[in-house]
Amino acid sequence: MSDPDCIFCKIVAGELPGQIVEEDERTIAFMDINPATRGHLLVIPRAHARNLLEISPEDLGATMAAAQRMAQRVNERLAPAGINLINACGSAAWQTVFHFHVHVIPRYEDDPLKLPWVPAEGDADEIAAVARELR
Ligand code: AMP
Ligand code: ZN
Repeated sequence: MSDPDCIFCKIVAGELPGQIVEEDERTIAFMDINPATRGHLLVIPRAHARNLLEISPEDLGATMAAAQRMAQRVNERLAPAGINLINACGSAAWQTVFHFHVHVIPRYEDDPLKLPWVPAEGDADEIAAVARELR
């Protein structure tokens, strides 16, 4: 349920400080210490799970529902122009803390964030081939 080396487990346990803004039976939401924009929050399950592939469906559902509630609160209180929910799964996907978390990132018209890929038309045969692998 808890990993003694995990900083987010320590925040859950109250052993490390955190700006907690909401909690329920399964989840807590707290401010990211390096905010990408004003109001950047993290929502995590209380129970340790390394990433999207390992979290239980119950905790995933509870965490996503809490992320939606936090997005609604951010929308009401901070009036952003938009909101991104982001999850990183694995170092190659930018995960740096290996306790599942969803970033709730308010977006503002003049913020510095950029789309992380350059949209370009794909090859139809390659798209169809990978679709067959995934069916
Ligand atoms: P990720 O790169 O998706 O794994 O995101 C990890 C996030 O955790 C980063 O945005 C960090 O700024 C944030 N973070 C790391 N340590 C803390 C901490 N002690 N309190 C709050 N946020 C943290
Ligand atoms: Zn943990």
